[in-house]
Amino acid sequence: MSTTGNSEAPAAPPGRTEVEVAIVGAGLAGTVLAITLARAGRKVALIDPHRVHHDEFRAEKTRAEQMGLFEKLGLGSVFRSISTPMTDLHIFRFGQLFERKQTFEYAFSYAPLVNGMRAALPPEVLLTVGKVAEVSTGPDRQRLVLTDGSVIDARLLVVATGYSEAVRRAIGVERIEESKAHSLTMGFDLAISPQEFGLQSLTFYGRRIADRIAFLTIFRIGERLRANMFVYRTVADPWVRAFRENPQQMLLDLMPEIAERCGNFAVASEVEVRQVSLTTTQGHRRDGVVFIGDAFVTTCPAQGDGIHRVLTDVECLSSTHIPAWLATPGMVADKICAFYDDPIKIAADTRALRASIYAKRITTETGLEWRLRRLRNNTARQLMVFGRRFREAGKPAEPRAA
Ligand SMILES: Cc1cc2nc3c(=O)[nH]c(=O)nc-3n(C[C@H](O)[C@H](O)[C@H](O)COP(=O)(O)OP(=O)(O)OC[C@H]3O[C@@H](n4cnc5c(N)ncnc54)[C@H](O)[C@@H]3O)c2cc1C
Repeated sequence: MSTTGNSEAPAAPPGRTEVEVAIVGAGLAGTVLAITLARAGRKVALIDPHRVHHDEFRAEKTRAEQMGLFEKLGLGSVFRSISTPMTDLHIFRFGQLFERKQTFEYAFSYAPLVNGMRAALPPEVLLTVGKVAEVSTGPDRQRLVLTDGSVIDARLLVVATGYSEAVRRAIGVERIEESKAHSLTMGFDLAISPQEFGLQSLTFYGRRIADRIAFLTIFRIGERLRANMFVYRTVADPWVRAFRENPQQMLLDLMPEIAERCGNFAVASEVEVRQVSLTTTQGHRRDGVVFIGDAFVTTCPAQGDGIHRVLTDVECLSSTHIPAWLATPGMVADKICAFYDDPIKIAADTRALRASIYAKRITTETGLEWRLRRLRNNTARQLMVFGRRFREAGKPAEPRAA
């Protein structure tokens, strides 16, 4: 793929489309942005190499806060139709039930989420299936040449290509690794009857520092019982191979309380493993182009902030910045920077990055400062457990049924 300045752009061959906004990458970020802009009457092109998003192990659970953002973007009913709601959250620490919350979480598989959003694209947005061969950006017009020779000409280019580097590299931006191989996310199915499991979501925190486990969470996606475990290890770690070979026995050794909650559970699929680094972007403040979602920042899946960042980017761009940028001539870097400097966007990205770094340090660091912090947190939690037991002991016994 190559990049050229606008002044050198060759005459457009046949198959030229002119739009206000060209979005490269129809994952969650690109698709949701295309929907919101098109609903506001904007002329949008959306480009992705695949018509149907392939099955892949990615985000599988999100919280009520993110449902609020889907609602705000007018996509609450679409999200509800592809997700399983859970209302009964049980949190285990120190091998025992620590907290029970009545609040909403939503579980889904990533491909149905993205494909469900694509199905909600208004008919006027054409999903162009293709690869970008050449990209040129400038203060007025942006131009994409696809590998089949067709040309898309836009006032604004949005890069939403997730982890993929090709388009980012062609434009000349760089990923900065803030924490290389930060964590591993492991995903597998459990053979537990969904009917018996109900609408619970169970979260088990690791017990020992040496285990390097953030937590394991068990939840239901439709008729599947799914587990996500977040660990601070690398793929090459022999522990990871041992876990993949015998997940059931390792789980029973690490967290025997799972068996108390889930009975004689069995791991019913292969263990999928994804390594994630924390990254930011450098060199992105430039004319004509804006980077969103994982194409801008990647954070740790354990904090569950990826979808929040994506939806915050889309909300900020579609409600405020893009309408303002399109209302005046040109698309210079100064205009685009208003998005990167938006306090709402900065807060979402900063929260996700800080939480990712803190969670790893509080789980794994062995220096005095972190041992003291853990002692403080765990003492406070133990006191909460003790206080609750004390209050429960003082309550009159429930009258027995006759
Ligand atoms: C294992 C794992 C678990 C996670 N769990 C959670 C979780 O529980 N909760 C949470 O909130 N977040 C989680 N995340 C993070 C979340 O999945 C991401 O932040 C989010 O999906 C990013 O969406 P996106 O649209 O930016 O990127 P993507 O969804 O990756 O979309 C990128 C799109 O760009 C397309 N593309 C790539 N290259 C090109 C190209 N050259 N030209 C055109 N198109 C291209 C791809 O085909 C794809 O459609 C997890 C991430 C991982 C890896």
